[in-house]
Amino acid sequence: METSVKRCRKCILPANAPNIRFDRHGICNYCDTYRRIEYQGEDALLELIDHHRGSSRCYDCIVNISGGRDSSYAILKISKNYGMKVLAVNYKNPYTHPLAAENIARIRDVLKVDLVQFQLRGNLHRTLLQSNLRAWYANPSAAMVPMVCLGCKLIWAEIMRLARQHGISMIISGGNLLEQVGFWRELLGVSRDARIHQFYSLYAVGLLREAARNFKYLNRKTLIHTIRGYCYANPNAPFVRLSGRGLARVDLFHFVPWDETEVVSRIEEELEWRSPPPPSGTWRFDCKIGQLKEYMYSLTLGMSEKEGFYSRMIREGLISREVALRRVARESRLDW
Ligand SMILES: [Zn+2]
Repeated sequence: METSVKRCRKCILPANAPNIRFDRHGICNYCDTYRRIEYQGEDALLELIDHHRGSSRCYDCIVNISGGRDSSYAILKISKNYGMKVLAVNYKNPYTHPLAAENIARIRDVLKVDLVQFQLRGNLHRTLLQSNLRAWYANPSAAMVPMVCLGCKLIWAEIMRLARQHGISMIISGGNLLEQVGFWRELLGVSRDARIHQFYSLYAVGLLREAARNFKYLNRKTLIHTIRGYCYANPNAPFVRLSGRGLARVDLFHFVPWDETEVVSRIEEELEWRSPPPPSGTWRFDCKIGQLKEYMYSLTLGMSEKEGFYSRMIREGLISREVALRRVARESRLDW
């Protein structure tokens, strides 16, 4: 593999990664300008948790789960280690992997938590995917891969509604800073160290530039949902910040370091959590669209998002370059 693809000598990013440059030692600019993640610390998390504990009669917080590894670990830690009364919330994504659906049911049973599952009305998730996929295929662009499937970007309005309905003031997710490797950021012109307010304005400009190149995205039926997807994409998206005032939105792994071995071994042992057998990895297996996106990246960039994720793990000192190369070689096969 090493002989066929030119890669950074420190991480594993290949020469076709967006905006990559190598210095005379063969080290890439992603490595050269990398700043290690600064976690806010478990003490800060516990302080926040104690502040919200008992704020509602029935539940202390919502934990948003998908059946994937990080959110499963988040609910285990919050419920078992911190003793919070958790309301588990799950968006019933029509593309959920069957094993992820089983994980969700087991989490409910093992932790004895109440679980609320909700869906988008009608066939909205599928309709948006079909329409945006058609637009994408008319002019394939790596930058727009994340916008092709919007269903999961529309769920924060409902999660916040559920919090208010139950008088809950804290929503916890398994968000992981290591995962912020999307090459679409580079391709949309969002700099790697953009602060949050810069991030969303640069992101909007990048999306508008892409739409101007491909009018098929400006479909009358789906455009409003695309805009909502931008506004509600995640706990820090503009409308979630605006309408979520008074609601603490916490990503576990912004506070405590993400330790892959601990995450996977604890959820397997304590929640009987399962993922597909090797060669599939445990990362992002929970939604079947993940495989489609990998295919779209391979068509447009000739590389996988996993190469970005594992490269970041190398820069954080979590795995060696050799292990990362072995994993990418093993996991690169798509599950058709
Ligand atoms: Zn590098």
